Amino acid sequence: MYDEPVIKLHNIRMNYGGDDVLKGIDLEIKPGQIIGYIGPNGAGKTTTIKILLGMIYNYEGEIEIFGEKISRDEIDYKKKIGYVPEGGEIYENLTGWEYIEFIGEIYEVPAAKLKLRSEILADCFGMTGAFNDRISSYSKGMKQKILIISALINNPEIIVLDEPLNGLDANSVMVFKEILTKLAREGKTIFYSSHLMDVVEKISDRIILIANGEILADGTFAELKMKSKEGTLEKIFNDLTGFHEQGKIADRVIAALRD
Ligand code: ADP
Repeated sequence: MYDEPVIKLHNIRMNYGGDDVLKGIDLEIKPGQIIGYIGPNGAGKTTTIKILLGMIYNYEGEIEIFGEKISRDEIDYKKKIGYVPEGGEIYENLTGWEYIEFIGEIYEVPAAKLKLRSEILADCFGMTGAFNDRISSYSKGMKQKILIISALINNPEIIVLDEPLNGLDANSVMVFKEILTKLAREGKTIFYSSHLMDVVEKISDRIILIANGEILADGTFAELKMKSKEGTLEKIFNDLTGFHEQGKIADRVIAALRD
């Protein structure tokens, strides 16, 4: 198995016009790892992902994917990446099958393989009955399933997930977690960004905590636990980001409602 880092970020800085939203991100990720990329809203998670995927160009620093520096006009590396975007924009006029066919064609998945894979994945996610209905008629969870199937359809080496569980029911979450664990065992690299700590805690081999555009902690859940006096990932997160206001904020809300 390829054992060099599949993703390298070196001193990545990003500025949208105000303060830096990424302040020098350094990361090396080996194949077969499930990375949990967590941080409060506005920490810079989605910006990191968009830079990694070549969707934002005007950053500083260097990125290597599979040992190759990526540059503005590079597209080949993208064929090895699957991506579930946050709050995914999706063409609602298409049927589930048409959307997956469209994505599969962009990734140049051969037609017979595309059909077979999508039928099996639709069945695994309980989507067969709705596969030929327009996406506009789907629930949030069903749309999310179509995005997940599309992200896997090219059998990518790197799977980038930005809040992938949005709207999924508990059984689908269990199926998806199991799929990710097994894909990682096959050597696929999973970059999983979320603020849902309980899921990140359970599936990630390595947790990277980002706040204000800086990495505050990077290690296994056990290592992060040692760094912090707190127990669950949620508490470690509050501890490392210096957030302890939840009790006071909740009290204010309750008090305001009583008045
Ligand atoms: P996260 O995914 O961790 O919630 P983001 O990467 O989306 O964080 O955002 C990081 C910061 O960059 C936030 O302060 C956000 O307001 C800002 N930001 C994100 N996208 C843009 C944009 N297109 N233009 C200006 N500011 C942006």
